[in-house]
Amino acid sequence: MEKVIILGTGCAGLTAAIYSARANLSPLVFEGHEPGGQLSTTTMVENFPGFKEGIMGPELIMNMKAQAERFGARFQYADCTGLKKADHHVSVQIEGKWMDTRTLIIASGASAKWLGIERERELTGHGLTSCATCDGAFYRNVPVCVVGGGDSACEEATFLTRFASKVYLIHRRDSLRASKIMADRTLANPKIEPIWNSTIAEYLTDAEGEMRAVKLRDLKTNADRETDVKCVFVAIGHTPNTAPFKGVLSMDENGYLLQQGGTTATNVPGVFAAGDVADHRYRQAITASGQGCAAALDAERHLSEQGAE
Ligand code: NAP
Repeated sequence: MEKVIILGTGCAGLTAAIYSARANLSPLVFEGHEPGGQLSTTTMVENFPGFKEGIMGPELIMNMKAQAERFGARFQYADCTGLKKADHHVSVQIEGKWMDTRTLIIASGASAKWLGIERERELTGHGLTSCATCDGAFYRNVPVCVVGGGDSACEEATFLTRFASKVYLIHRRDSLRASKIMADRTLANPKIEPIWNSTIAEYLTDAEGEMRAVKLRDLKTNADRETDVKCVFVAIGHTPNTAPFKGVLSMDENGYLLQQGGTTATNVPGVFAAGDVADHRYRQAITASGQGCAAALDAERHLSEQGAE
């Protein structure tokens, strides 16, 4: 019987690991198929407090992991595929085997949806991103584009007008899905130019492998044209990584885990949720870390209430 199992090694999972390891709980942490979470695929992180010159995303993650290991956190590469509850513990299915634990911290994150165009993985961090808050400030006085027609796309496009010389909003239909107020504000912004009924057919790069333009396809006429952009911000939604917990944990209509009463507790005693798996509003490294800390404290309290620390 484990005391604390943590699923996920993004900011939320690793912060939970640091806190529970320092509480002498020797957490067992599972790294899934996207180890390090979304930060591991970004470049410079300039908004995580404490790094006045910024820090590379993968380095920040490696530091957090080393910090957790220093206090006794144990790491294994494996995906969780199922969850069962029992009277005073839960069981997680890891590579076909069931493991029992008194507490479980789910920090499995959310994965950005991508367009499914060739070379997407290779271009991430080289002019292709899913986070304007993280990367917008790197693209000052150059043209960029946002793909999508929802609230996220509108929010990102509006935010990017602070930096970019021009923001193309590429949408596959001729009207926005976003709330009316967001849509109106976006379309009224003189720096934003919507490109309707269009999709990106190809990413075009310069000699250094950085984004220089996109090949746009008009979905009505099938005609292609090239548009210069230094960065493509894909904002077509996120998918929370909660499939293994369906039917056991309460979720909202988009599959995000529901937390109870201002804590990280889920509807199952001893199971806590932290970071993007439960938060589709803030989605920042620092807010995920904050929730990871809270989940570790909640788990510790649960163990002491059960007399099991
Ligand atoms: P969303 O509402 O699901 O919108 C996704 C957009 O991407 C849609 O316009 C969709 O086109 C487009 N899209 C999806 N797959 C695509 C593909 N393969 N190729 C091209 N376009 C594609 O997602 P979201 O904007 O991330 O918002 C998610 C939730 O968070 C929503 O409930 C939203 O209201 C909320 N949110 C709220 C705020 C806020 O209030 N400040 C900010 C951000 C998000 P179609 O329209 O054709 O389906």
